[in-house]
Amino acid sequence: MEKIISLAKRRGFIYQGSEIYGGLAGTWDYGPLGVALKNNVKALWWQMFVEEREDMYGVDAAILMNKGVWQSSGHVGGFSDPLVECAKCHHRFRADQLADTKKCPDCGGAFGEVRQFNMMFKTHVGAAEDDAAVSYLRPETAQGMFVNFKNIVDSFHPALPFGLAQIGKAFRNEIAPRDFIFRAREFEQMEIEYFVRPNDWERFFEEFRRLMWQWVEAIGLRRENVHELEVPAEDRAHYSKRTIDFEFDYPFGRKELYGLAYRTDFDLSAHQKGSATSLEYFDEGSKERFVPHVIEPSLGVDRTILAILTNAYTEDELGGEPRSFLKLSPTIAPVTVAVFPLLKNKPPLVEKAREVYAMLREAKKTASNNIRIAFDDNGNIGKRYRRQDEIGTPWCVTVDFQTLEDDTVTVRDRDTGNQTRVKIDELTKTIFR
Ligand code: ATP
Repeated sequence: MEKIISLAKRRGFIYQGSEIYGGLAGTWDYGPLGVALKNNVKALWWQMFVEEREDMYGVDAAILMNKGVWQSSGHVGGFSDPLVECAKCHHRFRADQLADTKKCPDCGGAFGEVRQFNMMFKTHVGAAEDDAAVSYLRPETAQGMFVNFKNIVDSFHPALPFGLAQIGKAFRNEIAPRDFIFRAREFEQMEIEYFVRPNDWERFFEEFRRLMWQWVEAIGLRRENVHELEVPAEDRAHYSKRTIDFEFDYPFGRKELYGLAYRTDFDLSAHQKGSATSLEYFDEGSKERFVPHVIEPSLGVDRTILAILTNAYTEDELGGEPRSFLKLSPTIAPVTVAVFPLLKNKPPLVEKAREVYAMLREAKKTASNNIRIAFDDNGNIGKRYRRQDEIGTPWCVTVDFQTLEDDTVTVRDRDTGNQTRVKIDELTKTIFR
């Protein structure tokens, strides 16, 4: 884990939030390569779960919502974790994550009573700081979709089953943020609320279960590191009648990566009551009116990024030298291909390399949007290969003296370090596969 955190910082993927002020626990800032990786993951998700389907509707709801939303959804009353505090050192822990709730693991002191701690961040909207102005930062993106159910039905008249999809920030005042970006206080989710007829829920639960495995494969995680856990009734969230957690073997243990839940009609019915607005669906075929039931695949972006980094981090030996690198799939790597001149101070090489770079960027416009090309002439060639390996770039193209004679370049494969000579004309065919 230390190696991954240090690579992420050194190479500009992820920094501690507010670092120069000593940080703010549970917050993380993504640097240029982290943003690129995260954007690629989110774009792939959007493509697979929204664009490639006819039954999905994207929304981007406000993070601040009327407090009535959180009262109806049960979050004001019940979105809490059990907290214990040490009487001696005053460190706080999540009781369900401790082996022994009698003694403090930090100082051996005695714990007080276990109490419920609500994890929502409370804030005030507008100039008044009274109770009427209270709002919360959303602890899940889901509610932004439930409260827009009626809008989507009224605008688009979708036939059941159909889903709403959203990517966005969520906030939880975690008692003990830890394990890098795994448990943060501010994080991002990619969620779908899929509305079905009450009797159809099992079928669509299975469909999303399969889709989630396809997703795991699409981002390049090894199947054997992902495990389903049927969550027992007593551990399920208040709204769920069935939940499967998808767990990942992180360096600190097997922990939840994603959740797939059958939320029944809990949320729509609760909002129907709380808002006094009908959220029933009218089925033209059967002429029935009913509140649809919901299947929810919930994916954390940051836990995905951590799983991807863990999965990709590799150490080997190349040319007698130890190296560490990220074996990222070309679909999500921040840089797909890096172009270099062999030497920085030889103008004909630099010019030619710039030409190759421009040609690839031009070709990308028609060939594929899913390619990211970088130009790199920093330091010597060995250092550049090391840097590109460490950020997970699958291919490096080098312009050398032979290029000036015969218009061929070398293409180096990240995983093997093997270099092959390719004609510039054929470069796009080799790379844009
Ligand atoms: P945990 O039991 O680990 O606290 P949870 O069961 O409360 O997680 P859900 O409410 O199911 O999590 O949230 C859906 C998804 O959001 C999770 O599967 C995870 O990917 C992500 N997620 C939840 N909490 C956090 C967090 N504090 N930091 C980063 N991602 C999170």
